[in-house]
Amino acid sequence: MARLVLPCKGAGLARTGLLGLVSSAPLQVTNRVSFLENSAKNIYRYRRFLTSEALCRRNCRFSYPSLSRAKQANRLICSVATESLKNPVEESKMDTPKEIFLKDYKRPDYYFDTVDLRFSLGEEKTIVSSKITVFPRIEGSSPPLVLDGHDIKLVSICVNGKELKEGEYLLDSRHLTLLSPPSGSFTLEIVNEIHPEKNTSLEGLYKSSGNFCTQCEAEGFRNITFYQDRPDIMAKYTCRIEADKSLYPVLLSNGNLIEQGDLEGGRHYALWEDPFKKPCYLFALVAGQLESRDDTFITRSGRKVSLRIWTPAQDVPKTAHAMYSLKAAMKWDEDVFGLEYDLDLFNIVAVPDFNMGAMENKSLNIFNSKLVLASPETATDADYAAILGVIGHEYFHNWTGNRVTCRDWFQLSLKEGLTVFRDQEFSSDLGSRTVKRIADVSKLRNYQFPQDAGPMAHPVRPHSYIKMDNFYTGKLFFT
Ligand SMILES: [Zn+2]
Repeated sequence: MARLVLPCKGAGLARTGLLGLVSSAPLQVTNRVSFLENSAKNIYRYRRFLTSEALCRRNCRFSYPSLSRAKQANRLICSVATESLKNPVEESKMDTPKEIFLKDYKRPDYYFDTVDLRFSLGEEKTIVSSKITVFPRIEGSSPPLVLDGHDIKLVSICVNGKELKEGEYLLDSRHLTLLSPPSGSFTLEIVNEIHPEKNTSLEGLYKSSGNFCTQCEAEGFRNITFYQDRPDIMAKYTCRIEADKSLYPVLLSNGNLIEQGDLEGGRHYALWEDPFKKPCYLFALVAGQLESRDDTFITRSGRKVSLRIWTPAQDVPKTAHAMYSLKAAMKWDEDVFGLEYDLDLFNIVAVPDFNMGAMENKSLNIFNSKLVLASPETATDADYAAILGVIGHEYFHNWTGNRVTCRDWFQLSLKEGLTVFRDQEFSSDLGSRTVKRIADVSKLRNYQFPQDAGPMAHPVRPHSYIKMDNFYTGKLFFT
C-alpha cells in the first residue's frame, strides 16, 4: 500500500522553498483520536484525501468532502449487516472492539493450498463461489476451522462435496465456524452473496464510478467471502469473473489471463491464474469500461512483459508519465536490487474513488487517479515527481511485500519501511539525491514529528491494535 496521501500543492512546498523541485510532500492524514478508540465513524477521517490548502495549513486535520455520504454509508452498512446475514445476531454484542496482541500470535490450525474463486457480477447482487483446498497444520488433528466474514450472506457450504446442515457450523456477524472438519486435507466450497453496489466503505468489493473494484489490505477480503483473513495464509489463486459484456467489457484479476469468452445473455467471462502464493490482502478484481495505454518491457532474462495502464477513455492521454515511471522502476529494480518481474503481464488501474492512495495487488496495482494522471497543461514538476515515486513504490512491493510478505500485521512496517526506502532510492537515482533527501526530511519534520507528539503516537511495531487500518500512518512511511 502506498500512503493515505494527496499531493499538497502550495503551503507545504512553499514552506520548504522547494516548490517545483521536489516531490509534493504526500501528506499523511492523521485522525486525531486514539487508535484504540477506533470506530467505523472515525475510519472515515483518514480515508478521505485532503483537498484544501487551508486545511494543509492547519497541519493536515482531515476534511470531510462528503460527510453526508459517510453518514449514508454508515446507514447502508448497518442495513446490509442486519438484512443479509443468515443467522443475524445482536450487532452491538458482536461488534464490541477486540484488542489484538502481538504476544498472542499463534500459527493457524489450518492452511490453504489453492483457492478457486468465481464471481458472477450483477447490478443487484454479486454471487461469490470459492473452492479451497484445506490442510491441517498438524496431520490428524481437526480443531474447529474459524473463517472471517463480514456483511456476507451465506448461500451454501460444502465439505468434500457434501453440503453442511445447520448445527454443523456456526455463523455470526464476524465468523463462520466449521465445528468438526475432517482430519486431513479436504475441499471446502462456499457460495455467498454480497452487495458491492451498496458498499460505500471502499473495502472489499465495491463500485467506483460504475466500475467494480477491490481493496483488501488490511482486512477487506473478509467482506468478499469467508476466509482465514490473515497474511500467513498463503495460497495459489485462480479467479473467474463473469459479467455483462456491454457494461463491463474489461475483466481483470491477479496473475496471467488464461481464458476468456462469451456467454449467453450478453455476458462474458475471464479466467485469471496467479502462479505465486499470496495472502488474501493482495487479491484484486476490476471490472468495467476502461481503456488502456499499452507498452512492453523486456526483462534482463528476455521475458517479454505486457504493460497496461487502465483508465476511463478520456484519461488515457494523461498516463504517459505513469508508463514511463513503471518502465523506469522495472529497469531500476533489476539494475540496483537484481530483482526481475516474474509474470507476463503487469496491469495498473486508476480509479477516482480509492481510499488508500495506491495498492500493490499482485500484478494488478490499483491507484487513485490523482497518483497516476498528469498532463503538461495542469501538472507541476512536483506532481510528476510524486507519480514517479508512487508508481515505483507499488511496483517494488512485487518483491518486498508480495513475494516476501508479512507473518501478521504487526510486521506491516517491515514491508512498508523497506519499500519506502527502495522508492526513495529510486527517486534519488532518477532525480536529485540531495533535493529528495531534503524533501523527505521536511515531511518527517512537518508531519511525523507532530504525530509523535500527539495522541496518534505509536511504536513502529505496536504491541496491540483494535483496528489495523489505524496503523497506516506516517510512522510506517516516512521513517
Ligand atoms: Zn507500500
